[in-house]
Formats: sequence, structure tokens, C-alpha cells
Amino acid sequence: MNHPRELRHQAAGHTGTLTDRDGLLVFKPALDRELAFYQAVQKRMYSEGNDDGNREGDVPLYSWMPTFLGTLNEGEQGTEGGKYIVLENLLHGFSEPNVMDVKLGKVLYDNEASVEKRERLAQVSKTTTSGSLGFRICGMKLKRNKMVEQVDPAHVEPDEDDYVFLNKHFGRSRTEDNIEDSFRLFFANSKLSPERVKTLKRTFLHRLQLLYNTLLEEEVRMVSCSLLFIYEGEPKRWDALNDRDSLLRDEFIDSGDEDSDSENESTGGKTGLSSLSLIDFAHSKLVPGEGYDEGLVDAIENLMTLFHNICIRI
Ligand code: ADP
Ligand code: MN
Repeated sequence: MNHPRELRHQAAGHTGTLTDRDGLLVFKPALDRELAFYQAVQKRMYSEGNDDGNREGDVPLYSWMPTFLGTLNEGEQGTEGGKYIVLENLLHGFSEPNVMDVKLGKVLYDNEASVEKRERLAQVSKTTTSGSLGFRICGMKLKRNKMVEQVDPAHVEPDEDDYVFLNKHFGRSRTEDNIEDSFRLFFANSKLSPERVKTLKRTFLHRLQLLYNTLLEEEVRMVSCSLLFIYEGEPKRWDALNDRDSLLRDEFIDSGDEDSDSENESTGGKTGLSSLSLIDFAHSKLVPGEGYDEGLVDAIENLMTLFHNICIRI
């Protein structure tokens, strides 16, 4: 690993996730189930040519996931080193990323969980929007904005460069009555025009509709995975791209190299102005023949309703 450092702008989760000096990659401590899931999806991707084709027209599942580049063993020779999953850093190319982690599903444990864990997580679901809506805000890392001033100070952790972290207590205390405002808060960037904010919300709604179609065709069980929302808060990058965003992230590994380096620096290369990704597959598996994940699909449906509402009512 070349000069590893802690990943900045983590929206939630455990510490221990690292990035390289250039911020291209993310190294996440490897868990067996998560590694197996990335490998299974990758294997299927390579054999997709032989598929029965029923996924035609839909965005494939792997397009919603960070590109999986393999594993890495870190440590001195002869010692027990740490094992990492190497992933595309979804924040690469953003100048002022704003990041939100939304955990999906009503049921937050799988059948491998201990009785203690089941009881604890059943309680979390019952007392949060996980239970009522099938999703819950885990955390946000964003530039401070006006709406942040109204948040309970116990939920706000200031960071450098006028960033704030809204912690898990923020997410757990959301209700059906204030969840829409919490998403509005995420987009209430003080440097972006109302038009740009509106564009962002619409683009995410569109992505959710595409993801919904993907997941209806996928035979997976994803317990406790997250949706990672990212948008660019630096107006100069919006200017440089003429406000043009892309619905899906570009291929991380590109064959050609059309962009010149100078262009890459000013525009963030191929990175768009926002993105939506599925992450965190420590409790995910492919289940061929067992149908789609109802909990997951319900969650996306409720998120689509929410985005529809925040798009039409400012
Ligand atoms: P955990 O198992 O600790 O919950 P996650 O995979 O959910 O780990 O990651 C925790 C946080 O790290 C996420 O909320 C996100 O902000 C950040 N993160 C995870 N994977 C990536 C990635 N590939 N690129 C950028 N940020 C990431
Ligand atoms: Mn997580």
C-alpha cells in the first residue's frame, strides 16, 4: 500500500478504511461474506455474455457497486498481516463532496447473527425509520449549511474546512414526520443555486427509478447494505461541466485515455457531479432462483416517494 491514510469524508461505519495517496482507491478491512459477494458479482459480470438475457435494458447490479479490484495483504513478511478489499474510491474526482449513507432494509440482521445481536438490531429497527420506512440515515458528511443550524448540537460533529458530520444519533432520531426535511438538509448547499439543487434531487430520483428496476430483476439478499449519495458542492466544477451530470458512474477502468491531464485537474476527469451507489455487503449474497429482495425493493420504493415529494415541494 502506497502511503495509506484514513479515508476522509466517511459518512458512517467503522474506522479502519484507508485510501492511497492519490485517493483513487479504498482499502476496507476484509470480511469473508463481503469479499465473497464482490467476487460472486464480478464472476457473473465476466460471464454475462452467456446469460439468458433477462436483464437486458436494465442497469446491471455491478454498475451500482464500487469497482472491485481485488484483495491486499498488508504486513511484514512472516507476520499475520491485515487483509483488505480494494475498491474504487467513490469520492475520487470530487472537489467538495457531500456524502450521505442510508442503510436499507427493515430487518437488519441475517440468520448468522447471535440472539443478542438479533434482539439489539430488532430494537433499532423498531425505534427508527428502518422499521417504518425500510431505510434510515446512518450519517452524513457535508459542508455546513443553514439547515444544519437547526439540528440538535449533540448530533453535529464539526470537522475541518467547515464540514460537519451528522452522526448516527441524528439518523436514529429521525421520524416519518421529519425525514423529508433531513434529506432536504443534505441538499441545502449554500454555494449551489436553487436550480442546481433541484437538478440534483431530480437526478437522484431518476437513479432510484433505475436502481428499482435493477433490483426487481436481481435474486439477492442484501441485509444492512447502504446507499451512498454523493454530490459536488464546488460550483467551479459545475461550471466546468456546464451543469452536465451523468446518471451512472463511468467505468473506473477505462481502455482509452482521451482526457488530457490538465482537463482532469479542473473538471475531476470523468467524475460527474453526483453519484448513487450501493455499498457495504458484509451480509449480502446472491440467491439464484429465490426471487428479488422484497425488503430492499420496498425501501427503494419509499425513497422514490420521498424524492418525488422533495422534488415537487421545495
Ligand atoms: P462499515 O462496514 O464499517 O459500515 P461501509 O462499507 O458501510 O463500512 O463504509 C463506511 C463508510 O465509508 C461509508 O458510509 C462511506 O462513507 C465510506 N465508504 C465505504 N466504501 C467507500 C468507497 N468505495 N468509496 C468511498 N467511500 C466509501
Ligand atoms: Mn456501513
